[in-house]
Amino acid sequence: MALVNEHFLKLPDNYLFADIAKKVNAFKVMHPKADVISLGIGDVTQPLCPAVVEAMHKAADEMATAEGFRGYGPEQGYDFLREAILKNDFLPRGIHLDIDEIFVNDGAKSDTGNFQELIRWDNSIGVTDPIYPVYIDSNVMIGRAGTVTGGRWTNVMYMPCTAENGFVPRIPEHRVDVIYLCYPNNPTGTVITKTELRKWVNYALRNDALILYDAAYQAYIQDDDIPHSIYEIRGARRCAVEFHSYSKTAGFTGVRCGYTVVPKELTAATLTGERIPLNHLWYRRQCTKFNGTSYISQRAAEAIYSPAGKEQVKQTIGYYMQNACVMLATLRRLGFEVYGGENAPYIWMRTPCGSGSWQFFESLLYGANVVCTPGVGFGPSGEGYVRFTAFGSHERIEEALARLEKWTK
Ligand SMILES: *Cc1c(COP(=O)(O)O)cnc(C)c1O
Repeated sequence: MALVNEHFLKLPDNYLFADIAKKVNAFKVMHPKADVISLGIGDVTQPLCPAVVEAMHKAADEMATAEGFRGYGPEQGYDFLREAILKNDFLPRGIHLDIDEIFVNDGAKSDTGNFQELIRWDNSIGVTDPIYPVYIDSNVMIGRAGTVTGGRWTNVMYMPCTAENGFVPRIPEHRVDVIYLCYPNNPTGTVITKTELRKWVNYALRNDALILYDAAYQAYIQDDDIPHSIYEIRGARRCAVEFHSYSKTAGFTGVRCGYTVVPKELTAATLTGERIPLNHLWYRRQCTKFNGTSYISQRAAEAIYSPAGKEQVKQTIGYYMQNACVMLATLRRLGFEVYGGENAPYIWMRTPCGSGSWQFFESLLYGANVVCTPGVGFGPSGEGYVRFTAFGSHERIEEALARLEKWTK
């Protein structure tokens, strides 16, 4: 008899975005003529930039010839891309990484979910709250999160990030083995300063903890002094893994490519205290369970680093950030309390008059036909907030804001 992994049964049945879709659909059935604008889902909308498309065509043509055909590539990615990553994402920030420390992936979600396989099931985990749900759910699946009561997992330490603490998580007083950090943050759109990030690195080094750092939104950083990588902090190589993705950087949500950095100095201990390098374990894991990202996707990613690619990607990001800027200004003018949106494509808004996240979601949907994401879907500290995304067209976002203004009056 095949016995099921019962940890999966602990996961809540409802997936946040499916719940939202259900409510939006119910609304549409009742109001078939309504034109609903979604400022909810975290997917990009602008097309791939020309440099990327050109590289993909070229790679496809190569694959059509006997000489240019590529079958299985190296599991950890082609050197042409890994070299471009080192040269463009790290060297200019004074970070010297070895090519073997870069593992090209098919998007950051899989690796942020998979990396926890390398550590024992009984490690404790700490997350900033609210949070990208993948970090917790992937730990639930292996039995590390405990059981859930009132939206909280018993073995997860939640570090609240709210307006009250300026969205800066407190360094834990107790030891935690593994910490997930995501900056610029999804869902709050807030960032971390070098000083604050240094505190985390020092905490991890002192407590022999592992930091899993999600930098999926680093390309949205506008302020010069905000770190793009945790390796800008001295000592981070000994305590942190970093995840990157081209999904939000260059509209690769459908192309699929990103990379994970696992420094060679990074180790975890056995019960007897022996230090085991995680770079080698991750290499071993990837060779066993992953057969690489497609050649075409990797050539597409490489094109982002060409002079034309860089310029085009910057323009698209500028387009979304222009949306964020207009949204922030309008929502502030209407008297809403809003955060983020300056170095990230997300705006985190406190719901007015203390209404709950879902309650506000519904009144906005019915009152202005605009969809937001209820903050509580990202964790207990998200209650009383909603998230707006800036991934829309200028026209639709302006229309949504105009409706919001009319609705509030
Ligand atoms: C979108 C996103 C990612 C990227 O996921 P991909 O699998 O690369 O598309 C990673 N982390 C966070 C927090 C995200 O919001």
